[in-house]
Amino acid sequence: MKSASTQTLLNFLNKLKKEFESSNVLSYSQIVEIAKHSGIFGNKTLMLEGILRCLVELDALKMKIDISCPICGEHLGVFDSIRDLDHTITLICLNGHEIEISQNFIYENLGRYVSIIFGINNKDVFEEIVKGERPLISISDLEDLYKESLKIKDAKKGKRFEEFLDKFFRSIPRAKIQKKVPTGEGGGDIDFVIDFSDVKRLHKDLRNIVFIEAKNTGNVSKKDIVSFIDKLKHSNFNVGIIITTGKLGKNAKQRLREERDSEQRYILTYIEGSDWEDFFSKKYHTPEEFLNTILRKNF
Ligand SMILES: [Zn+2]
Repeated sequence: MKSASTQTLLNFLNKLKKEFESSNVLSYSQIVEIAKHSGIFGNKTLMLEGILRCLVELDALKMKIDISCPICGEHLGVFDSIRDLDHTITLICLNGHEIEISQNFIYENLGRYVSIIFGINNKDVFEEIVKGERPLISISDLEDLYKESLKIKDAKKGKRFEEFLDKFFRSIPRAKIQKKVPTGEGGGDIDFVIDFSDVKRLHKDLRNIVFIEAKNTGNVSKKDIVSFIDKLKHSNFNVGIIITTGKLGKNAKQRLREERDSEQRYILTYIEGSDWEDFFSKKYHTPEEFLNTILRKNF
């Protein structure tokens, strides 16, 4: 997708939208034709696959998958959704060939052993993408960035995690992001201040200016929470999220809960490594849905 200009991409998406308006479903080969006419195909078939992958991951499109054996062509089975394939499965054809089927296999073999029918699923999300409001950032790309940040051992660790978070937040339409915002009284920088006021898919408690602290560390301690709350108070924000790749200790969670319960004006929550794993397993259709669940679940 990196090589498609935004304009070409939007051209293609608009053509796709028109085609879907005249016929409810399109086969992969029909979409290839539309891509060719939009100048998006060129010599890079991977680009189209990347775009379709994003559209499916965001639930803008649904796909029905019909798989044949790559060795003998025998029919193997039909899947209603790629979400049904959340782990690798082994299928055996009538002639005894064993084939490992995973989401990657599907995306890498679009139009080869896999015949696919696409239809519009979430019309609102599809519209946002066609209008260019919602960037096409795939969950798999985000997962790669996140995993890279886990591997780094040196001082760049924190910075890498912030790059991932930046991309994650930028995938939310109408989120206004500021990085490294100084706190009023010399208490150090705030990693992110995000204005979610215009993000209609978010829960009303998050449709606010949100203070975010990122920690690419194994464990977030009670002490970290105390300094997080101090910073929040100094900066006059009411909504705060502490985000880590690791875990919040029991005492850290307890401290967060106490603060929220004693001062009702504060909305405090956290995202930890296991939440990110859930996000990458594509349990949620949009980043907004993920954040809404976090708000309900994590205190
Ligand atoms: Zn076979």
